Amino acid sequence: MLRFASLASGSRGNCLVAEVASVSGGTRVLLDCGLKLRDTERRLARLGLEPSAIDAILVTHEHGDHAGGVFEFAAAHGTLVCLTHGTHAALAAEGRLIEGVKLRFIHGEEAAAIGGIEARPFTVPHDAREPVQFVLSDGAARLGLLTDIGTSTPHVEEALSGLDALVLECNYDRDLLWNGAYPKWLKERIAGPFGHLDNRVSGRLLGALERSKLKHVIGAHLSQQNNRPQLARAALAAAMGCGESWIGIADQEEGFSWREI
Ligand SMILES: [Zn+2]
Ligand SMILES: [Zn+2]
Repeated sequence: MLRFASLASGSRGNCLVAEVASVSGGTRVLLDCGLKLRDTERRLARLGLEPSAIDAILVTHEHGDHAGGVFEFAAAHGTLVCLTHGTHAALAAEGRLIEGVKLRFIHGEEAAAIGGIEARPFTVPHDAREPVQFVLSDGAARLGLLTDIGTSTPHVEEALSGLDALVLECNYDRDLLWNGAYPKWLKERIAGPFGHLDNRVSGRLLGALERSKLKHVIGAHLSQQNNRPQLARAALAAAMGCGESWIGIADQEEGFSWREI
């Protein structure tokens, strides 16, 4: 059984946990860790997890809301960090590595086995050095994660087809962004081809996927200034042809609680 939960989702920090249970104790990974150490520990406790139970942290890219707490957590708890060479180089250039942390490099789109979890990376267009997103699997169920992507591509849609669960970026509503208070350069960055997905494009992406097995769809990385949960929910529900209450939303403070596949 694969289950997953979120500790936080949004521009002030992202962290998702996935777990595959087994008789020998199972495997747990964090996907990104953009929270301060104590905050991560407190939120793990909320989900009934000790920090020592985390086997690895998979890092999607170097932006602070994803990588800001990775090395601090790994150094404190002896956790393995899995990342691309590009992400590693970017974090090194910013002086954010901590010596002694165990590393494993992600090469291209090669799947990495971490205990009972297979993590399959795929490349995405985003303004980072070598960003990836992941499909996690226990060999049967597949959970896809997609945030921090400026444009959908056929490659991304292929990687996310036939999933059992999907956590999908719904960063902004176009009207709220363009009529909002952000400076023009930032609006252009967010809405650009290497920025973030708006509700409408996320809905279109979801509509393009093979969705017959999807049991969970959760909107994530919502901007607190430029989006509203009900707008994201409506866009994803329209693409799924389901009731809005069936769509989950990941919250900045609360994340979301355990979901099982
Ligand atoms: Zn982000
Ligand atoms: Zn980013």
